[in-house]
Amino acid sequence: MATDAHITHFAHPQHRLLKTPYSSASRHVCDICEAKLSGLVGYRCNACDFDIHEACADYFKETISFFAHPWHTLTLCRMPPENKGWVCDLCMEHCPPGNFVYRCIQCKFDVHPLCTLLPQTIRSPLHPLHDLNMVPSSGHCNACPERLPVWHYICGPCTSPSYRLHIGCVSGAPSGVGQGSGGTTNQNNSSSRGQGTGNTSSGANQTTSDARNTTAVVERSRSTSVSKFLLKKSFMIAIDLATGGLASPVLDVLQAVLD
Ligand SMILES: [Zn+2]
Ligand SMILES: [Zn+2]
Ligand SMILES: [Zn+2]
Ligand SMILES: [Zn+2]
Ligand SMILES: [Zn+2]
Ligand SMILES: [Zn+2]
Repeated sequence: MATDAHITHFAHPQHRLLKTPYSSASRHVCDICEAKLSGLVGYRCNACDFDIHEACADYFKETISFFAHPWHTLTLCRMPPENKGWVCDLCMEHCPPGNFVYRCIQCKFDVHPLCTLLPQTIRSPLHPLHDLNMVPSSGHCNACPERLPVWHYICGPCTSPSYRLHIGCVSGAPSGVGQGSGGTTNQNNSSSRGQGTGNTSSGANQTTSDARNTTAVVERSRSTSVSKFLLKKSFMIAIDLATGGLASPVLDVLQAVLD
């Protein structure tokens, strides 16, 4: 095998990785994005059973600056074994020990690699007049009856009443997160307490009761549910804008896996 078929990658510095075409029957999963490699090209360490998509090897960096945690650099590393039950600060789904996350160890801020693709600003077909921004706050979703986790999309200009959406409700169709009876607007958020204060602790407590309803869906196919809304048109447009098109090979991979 020619030596140029090997690369070194920060996600697995112990060994060189071999460029590998995965068969369509392959059951290997990318260690970074957790999506399947079947029918795609990736890099593999056979000794450690470590695999990553070529697109993920190119796109994901060892350290990033991220709008949801502007104070510190986040580093791609494996969730330590003692951090059982920890969740992604953005999507609130699990980050199992051993899986890759972008972390600020100092602040205990963790986010799935795929969730770093979530754009800070997005335009939703449900609220076409204004951009929505992802900021920490609390309140109820305008598209479904579920309470919102700390991180969700809010319209800046619309303040009374406020307009807020789950990440999973932005594209219009319920997709795992905040899935409800669908379409009906929820007008029972009589107060807008905590808006813009950055006080995230009350919001975090509120989400625990909702989590019970969605956990079953979410745990079955976490990476699939994240991918599904990243692949919605409104997200793809916003991600392209935010990354200058650099993330499109990763979106192509997610698309190929879902097809
Ligand atoms: Zn990947
Ligand atoms: Zn290895
Ligand atoms: Zn996440
Ligand atoms: Zn930090
Ligand atoms: Zn919602
Ligand atoms: Zn608005």
